[in-house]
Amino acid sequence: MRYERQILMPDHDYPIAKGLKLILSVIGVLCFKDWKVSYSGPTCILIRRGAIDSSTAETHRQDLIKYLHHDKMRDYFWSNNRIKPVLVVFSDGGPDEAPRNEKVLQAAVKSFKMLDLDAMFVCTNAPHQSARNPVERRMATLSRDLCGLIIPHDVCGTHLDAQGRTIDTVLEKKNFEAAGRILAEVWDRTVINGFEVIAQYVPPASTAASESTEANDVLWRDRHILQSKYCLQVVKCQDESCCSPMISRLRLYLEDGFLPAPVMFRHGLYGLEAFKPCPNDYYCPSVIPELQKLICPVCKKYFFRKASLTKHGKIHKNLATIFELAEEEIETEVVSSIDEGGVQIIEDMEA
Ligand SMILES: [Zn+2]
Ligand SMILES: [Zn+2]
Repeated sequence: MRYERQILMPDHDYPIAKGLKLILSVIGVLCFKDWKVSYSGPTCILIRRGAIDSSTAETHRQDLIKYLHHDKMRDYFWSNNRIKPVLVVFSDGGPDEAPRNEKVLQAAVKSFKMLDLDAMFVCTNAPHQSARNPVERRMATLSRDLCGLIIPHDVCGTHLDAQGRTIDTVLEKKNFEAAGRILAEVWDRTVINGFEVIAQYVPPASTAASESTEANDVLWRDRHILQSKYCLQVVKCQDESCCSPMISRLRLYLEDGFLPAPVMFRHGLYGLEAFKPCPNDYYCPSVIPELQKLICPVCKKYFFRKASLTKHGKIHKNLATIFELAEEEIETEVVSSIDEGGVQIIEDMEA
């Protein structure tokens, strides 16, 4: 038998009224197994109401802090009576999470200072690769548990008029809370790969983000932050009048605490030889044409944004003269850069 019938399904389930949705913030903890980072660990979910709350860098920061201090998370995040000093966050590349965004940087610096971390790394995948974010693997299980579940929007009576407009804000608050708690109850019973899921409804609270004074200080930024297109690094400096000594042994593995930029290798007489150090975003095709203009001509530090480079430039003496000279140097350098096997080689990257 053959049916020739067009199947019509909406791409999205549109809410009955604007903002009538629950917003989730999902944090997947990755545990170590056999000295390697695994894909498994507990999952923490915070549920907010869409009518008032939104998903911002500040709400993500608050969620992270909340779960880092959660009793059930102590085995994973705590050691020697304090939060482990190195925190690595893999996020999606949305505007509220992308490490290149200023708001995300401000939030990261606030967490770094508040938790007295040795280092904090916020990384994301390149565009169209967010499915590789480890937390995405847990979404199938979370979605499965919602199959056949209809959460009523009017548990305590409808708060909407015939056009879907809110007419009773008190009732709306109660309805959202009831719906959020139903969802939290369902996921609280979920187990993913042997690890528990902790879900919680968060009543609306102030999510106004105050700016970090440290992150706005050009000199502090310069010493503690390395921001590239897909990775943000905030690391303690070695000046004890500025930062307390590191608790972890991070500098045993990373000389200055920062993840190193890529280094080009070539086959030499004795096998692979380190050839040229490259700027952090060297492997981002969209950045390559602008790369030379984003490197500080004085200290060779790379900035993924011209505005950051200009701010950074202010800490060098005789800025105007140096930059004028450097602009000329850059132009000659770009023209004279060697092309070997289709790979552009950046000269003079050594600091
Ligand atoms: Zn410092
Ligand atoms: Zn510089």
